[in-house]
Order: sequence, then structure tokens, then C-alpha cells
Amino acid sequence: MSQEINCFEIVQNLIDDCVEKLGLDRTVAEILREPQRVLSVSIPVQMDDGSIKVFKGFRSQHNNACGPCKGGIRFHPDVSMDEVKALSTWMSLKCAVVNLPYGGGKGGVIVNHKELSPNELEQLCRGYIRAIAPVLGADMDVPAPDVGTNGQTMGWMMDEFARYRGYNEFGVITGKPIIVGGSLGRVEATSRGCVFTIRQAAKATGLELKDATVVVQGFGNVGSIAARLLSREDGCKVLAVSDSTGAAYDPNGLDIAALEKFKLETGSVVGFPGSKNITTEELLQLECDILVPAALENQITGENADKINAKIVAEGANGPTTPEADNILAKRNILVLPDVLANAGGVTVSYFEWVQNQYGYYWTEEEVNERLERKMVEAFDSVYSLYKEHGDINMRGAAYMVAIKRIYEAMKIRGWLG
Ligand code: GLU
Repeated sequence: MSQEINCFEIVQNLIDDCVEKLGLDRTVAEILREPQRVLSVSIPVQMDDGSIKVFKGFRSQHNNACGPCKGGIRFHPDVSMDEVKALSTWMSLKCAVVNLPYGGGKGGVIVNHKELSPNELEQLCRGYIRAIAPVLGADMDVPAPDVGTNGQTMGWMMDEFARYRGYNEFGVITGKPIIVGGSLGRVEATSRGCVFTIRQAAKATGLELKDATVVVQGFGNVGSIAARLLSREDGCKVLAVSDSTGAAYDPNGLDIAALEKFKLETGSVVGFPGSKNITTEELLQLECDILVPAALENQITGENADKINAKIVAEGANGPTTPEADNILAKRNILVLPDVLANAGGVTVSYFEWVQNQYGYYWTEEEVNERLERKMVEAFDSVYSLYKEHGDINMRGAAYMVAIKRIYEAMKIRGWLG
């Protein structure tokens, strides 16, 4: 991974371009280039051996013109303030692409969570929430899971916030376990949303999904379930998947249910019976119909974009493709379904969870999935038609235009632009 590529600068440049294309005042770009508020916190945690370790964390609130800030919390050793700022900017755009009444936010802690005991992890979650509690609230800023966090961590965080408030405020955090106000379908939502976008793209481009070949980078929250849904519900053949330890490849297609079980037992996809070990770089270059990068940023770059052998790239991750790579893929007629569209299913069902929390009335999984499908199809169609209409922009450019136009309208009507 190219760490030198600064994703915050990338998104700032894309905003500049888009504001210019839309013919909007430069002030719009100046506002959207920077988050409204960034909090940097230090979190002392008592480790199991009695020592105190101090962790560093952030919460960035990018823009709240359309509603409360919304976005996940990442636990990863490579977290940095710039990364969190970029991720919060993408959240503003993502929420606007799917037309949710939210702005964008994001949090992160620099930590390798795999090295912590369950008790240490719980203390870190609670300490982080205590540190950022003054800027959180169901109507202010609503966190959720991201890389390295999950339902259990959200449960601890929600509980810590309830202690801070003195009562349960379920809507302050989404991605919670069902028993404490979570929504059915939330765990699968990012992947399901990604699959809905892939289905729309397949329809639009005449790709038959039955027996279509799929390669998935990342077998975590998003990638594993996307692989499962594409093979089980659409009859796709998943040729290869990777995780942080390596990749498993089978030209005849992997048995995803068995692989999920194997990963749960061994902690890795490497060595899955019947599969061949390949590197992540080899995986990205495999010939396939659909490539789903569902790991981290900057995976498809100027260095490997000309070796990508897919018809569609569906970004399950945030920021996996650099602008240089985007240009190369566009020239090679590879359709990129950008992150702010393709992985917006997660925040969409987070929104449904928040709505259910406000009402205290919960929906069936079918209701959640139907509403998610409607949102994703609508978002895909608005982005795809703009893309087709313009001719000189890619799908990312079109998605940014849809999003920035909406945020601009909210800022204008609120009087932020003079
Ligand atoms: N972390 C997810 C994302 O990047 C979900 C955010 C949310 O549900 O608020 O979209």
C-alpha cells in the first residue's frame, strides 16, 4: 500500500474540481475542503498487567448542513488525523449521494485492536467515548462501526454514553447489537448495498451475473458478506479473496460458506483447503468480471491500474482507488462504482436504525432490505444518468456532483454562503 498518498489531499482536490464543474462559487469548495470541527483526544487505558497505556484518537465532524454528523469509528494502527478528516469528508458526500438527512463525521483510534485483551478493548472503547462525549448526541454526531470495530464495541460505547448522559440514548450510535436497539440487516447492510449497486451496474452494462467471476480484496465486515451474497443470491463465482495475511485463489470458485467458517477457526483465509496461496497484488490483477476492493485506501494506484483485469470495480472500501488509477481505469473502459455510492448501504441502514430508535418501533429484516434496495437503486440511477449525460466524467465525478449539489443547496438555504 502506498502510504505516501494522502487521501485527505485527494478528496480536497476532487471537491475543487467538482465545485468548478458545477459552476459554484469557490467559497463552497473552501467550506467543504476542511471539516467544521476536529477533536484530538488522548485516552489512558489501564492494561491487564496494571500499567497505563495512552492511546491517541480523533473525531472529525466534516459538515452538518444536511443533518447530524454521521460516520464510523476506525481502530487501526495506521489511523491518522488526515485519514479521519478524509473519511469524514467522504461520509458527507456518501450521505448526500443516498440522500440521507445527515452530514459527515468519522472517528479513529491508533491501535492494533488484535493485540488487546477483551477487557483492554472495552476500556479503550469506554475511554474514547468519554473523551468525545461532549460532541456526540443523536442530533449532533452519531458514530457507527468501521474497520476494526463491530457490534460489541458499539454496545460498550453506547453503554458508556448512557452513563455520561444518565439515560439510554440509543440513537447516539448505530451498528449496535439487536438487543440494545440495533437494526436487523445492519451487519450485512454495507455488503448488501454494494451488491444492489453491482446488480444495477450489471443491468446497465449488460453483464450477466449468473456465473460472473468475482474477486474480493478484504474478507472483513464488508468483503466476506459481499462474497457470500454474490455467490449465494446471484450465482457468481468468487475466484479469490484476501485478508491482511494473504489470499486464497481457486479458478473453479471458492465455497464461501466453508471459507467463512475456516477464517473464523484459523483467523485467516490462507491455507483454505483446495485453494492456492497468492499475494494480494496477484489477486488484484486476476481476470474477472467484478473486482471488489473491500480493504483499505490506496490499493489500486498508478502502479497497478493498467494490470487490473476486471469489467467492474465496486468499491466496498473507502478510497481504494487513487485519482491516477481512476484515470487509467476510465481510459481502459473499466466501470468504477465509487465508494460514496457502492458502500453507502452501511450508513443507509444506520439511518434506518436511528429512525427506529427515535420511534422505539422496529422493522422486519425484509422491510429494512426493501427500503435499502430502493435507496441504492435510486442513488445508482441518479449517478449513472448524470455520468451518461456528461460523457467527460467518471462515476466518481458524477457521484460527487450529485452530493455536492445537495450539500450546496442546504448550505445556501441556511445562509452559509452569504
Ligand atoms: N463505517 C461505515 C462507512 O464508512 C458506516 C458508517 C455509518 O454507518 O455511520 O460508511
